[in-house]
Amino acid sequence: MNTALPAPRRNVPLAPHTTLELGGRAGFFLEIARESELLEMLRWAAVQGLPAALLGGGSNVVVDDEGFPGLVVRVATRGIEVARSDQEILLTAAAGEPWDEVVSLAVGEGWAGIECLSGIPGTTGATPIQNVGAYGQEIGQVLHSVRALDRSTWEVVTLPKDELQLGYRTSLLRRQPARWAVLAVTLALRPGGEATVRYRELEKLLLAGGRDPGLPRVREAVLELRRVKSMLLTPDDPNRRSVGSFFLNPVVTAAVAEKVARRAVDLGDLACPDHLPRFPSPQGLVKLPAAWLVERAGFPRGFRRGVVGVSSRHALALVHHGGGTAAELLALAGDIVTAVEERFDVSLVPEPTALDGSPLSLPRTSGGGARLRP
Ligand SMILES: Cc1cc2nc3c(=O)[nH]c(=O)nc-3n(C[C@H](O)[C@H](O)[C@H](O)COP(=O)(O)OP(=O)(O)OC[C@H]3O[C@@H](n4cnc5c(N)ncnc54)[C@H](O)[C@@H]3O)c2cc1C
Repeated sequence: MNTALPAPRRNVPLAPHTTLELGGRAGFFLEIARESELLEMLRWAAVQGLPAALLGGGSNVVVDDEGFPGLVVRVATRGIEVARSDQEILLTAAAGEPWDEVVSLAVGEGWAGIECLSGIPGTTGATPIQNVGAYGQEIGQVLHSVRALDRSTWEVVTLPKDELQLGYRTSLLRRQPARWAVLAVTLALRPGGEATVRYRELEKLLLAGGRDPGLPRVREAVLELRRVKSMLLTPDDPNRRSVGSFFLNPVVTAAVAEKVARRAVDLGDLACPDHLPRFPSPQGLVKLPAAWLVERAGFPRGFRRGVVGVSSRHALALVHHGGGTAAELLALAGDIVTAVEERFDVSLVPEPTALDGSPLSLPRTSGGGARLRP
């Protein structure tokens, strides 16, 4: 290793670096503020034959109680560059830039495109990985390109948006987590552009006057909506130890959605199948609200099992109340998946991943029913 590089610390607890505050220790841990050091550390780990994982704000991972045996690099690179034209602002942010600071900057400058993504915790480098989205916007709508290290060739490449295979909370980067280290993200924003007010709750709050409310007002309203649902990291919020939504909203065919609606009527959850909340998704598919399914399957808001439970303000957020283990949280998640399968024949999939980006494996205590596939 280059002697100028700070040496990684050994046996470092990872829980304080995650929003869930759960999980074991890293074999080696280093926070890195320079891109060149990030590349060097990943190479060092490869030469040592150690697995290496990147960590941003730790807001979308469940770290195993056994910890991570290799090197964990906390990405803290900073820097924002802006290239302007009349039509477009190309904003490039280093991977370690806190995401909400980028949104705040854009809103303050009057650059439209990410105002509804206010208050999402974590780093900018992680935003394209699951194509973060909220309140009617997704990062994919304004993403221009991603600069990344290809860990299979050790080349730094620029991946244009079209190559990123962005979808609902997914991308090429999420599908190949061991391969890509995101170094910087470039967004194409609209100078002087109108705010996006597409989400029903936002519309109700903001469009009473029928005029463009402006970016700062939209940002404020989104932050307020998030605060009320404990979807904003706030130090004194009893629901604060979470990863936001724990499950993806299932995307199913119209026929499966109808079957779920009829089952809900049979079970007394609904008076009529048309009352099942559902939203159109690309390719004629239908998105079902996972929170609704979780609550009807017996896990209401505020549900508690020991020191883990369901947020008192949003049924999609699983919460750690302190002093627990990742195993306890994952056991609860597994039981919720089983209960939803048994009641509605639909499989929920976790949104967060393990630290190395691999899918979480949930323990299952009893078998669910046959699953309905899209
Ligand atoms: C209260 C709360 C609300 C949330 N609301 C939303 C929401 O509205 N919409 C939404 O989409 N998400 C939401 N999330 C989830 C989360 O904030 C986002 O997914 C965020 O982008 C994760 O960023 P992070 O830096 O914390 O990533 P981390 O949790 O640190 O990492 C997530 C994964 O990405 C990998 N990774 C991190 N940085 C890099 C990098 N530079 N290169 C390669 N891989 C990397 C990690 O190895 C890990 O596998 C919420 C979370 C919380 C706690």
